[in-house]
Amino acid sequence: MSGSPEKPLLSVVIPCFNEESVLPILRPRLTQALDRLPVAWELIFVDDGSTDRTPELLATLHREDPRVKVVSFSRNFGHQAAVSAGLCYAAGDAVAILDADLQDPPELLGDCLERWRQGYEVVFAVRQKRKEGLFKRAAYGFFYRLLQRVADVEIPLDSGDFCLLDRRVVEVLRRMPERNIFVRGMRAWAGFRQIGIPYERDARAAGSTKYPFRKLLRLALDGVFAFSTAPLRLATWFGLSIVGLCVLVVVLVLVWRLCGLEFMGHTAQDIPGWAAGIISVFFLGGVQLLILGILGEYLARIYAEVKLRPRWVVSRALGFARPPEQVE
Ligand code: UDP
Ligand code: MG
Repeated sequence: MSGSPEKPLLSVVIPCFNEESVLPILRPRLTQALDRLPVAWELIFVDDGSTDRTPELLATLHREDPRVKVVSFSRNFGHQAAVSAGLCYAAGDAVAILDADLQDPPELLGDCLERWRQGYEVVFAVRQKRKEGLFKRAAYGFFYRLLQRVADVEIPLDSGDFCLLDRRVVEVLRRMPERNIFVRGMRAWAGFRQIGIPYERDARAAGSTKYPFRKLLRLALDGVFAFSTAPLRLATWFGLSIVGLCVLVVVLVLVWRLCGLEFMGHTAQDIPGWAAGIISVFFLGGVQLLILGILGEYLARIYAEVKLRPRWVVSRALGFARPPEQVE
């Protein structure tokens, strides 16, 4: 199914993980916002292995309105996998990605659509203000700035997954085979004409965050290691600086030894040497472990890629005429 030129089809992909408290608020607000737009629409809810009443609620929504479609995962595969699966199932000429918790206001979709009609293939929302705790805001701020410095592609600051994509971009993302998914990086990589529109990120409408610190850290690391090789080069720079430092130290020690100078009450002859020895052992040991850790981060991701496991497993799909090709 695809829309006509006058009335294009807009798909809205919504990943959900244990969102029973938010769904009753989301549905009316979303449909109201969408009904105002000059488009036909469909909602693709991706249930990321919820253990609460989310699956039943979604099934009811589908029964009430066939434009609501549901893809259920066999277990929790994570937010990024849910978004990617939604993109695979979406049939729209334009596809929007929206969090279930109404932190991304659906009313903004009108502006996004307007930009899309002007010819932008990627319209992403840029967070102006966040209504979140100080620590989380600081961590996000640091991460986006770090990512922008080290990433091989230009990933816009403070842009989350909330966006509207043209069908052509969706096709590019669908064809990217990577297992470590970082949607906002892949979106930037895809190119085309991209534009950001500012918005204020609301607080979650109901329920609690489904992104504990552990999952956020994982996402941040995926972002850095999937879109940058700068950490690998860190080893080279560390190594070079240490070699430089060593040359300096050798010169100093030689001068000290050969000239019989006193340093801190000692000459080189009665040097205790213990402190210097222990410091260098710890320092070099630390540097080596750090570099090994960085190599490990890449190795683990390469391992995940070469296993070529499906990125998610669908246990049930409601409302689709046929499953999309090449979906896993
Ligand atoms: N989510 C998901 N799978 C997960 C964690 C989160 O599909 O494993 C969904 C969640 O239902 C929500 C979106 O991802 O629609 C963003 O999660 P959340 O709002 O909890 O994250 P936060 O905004 O607190 O970072
Ligand atoms: Mg949220």
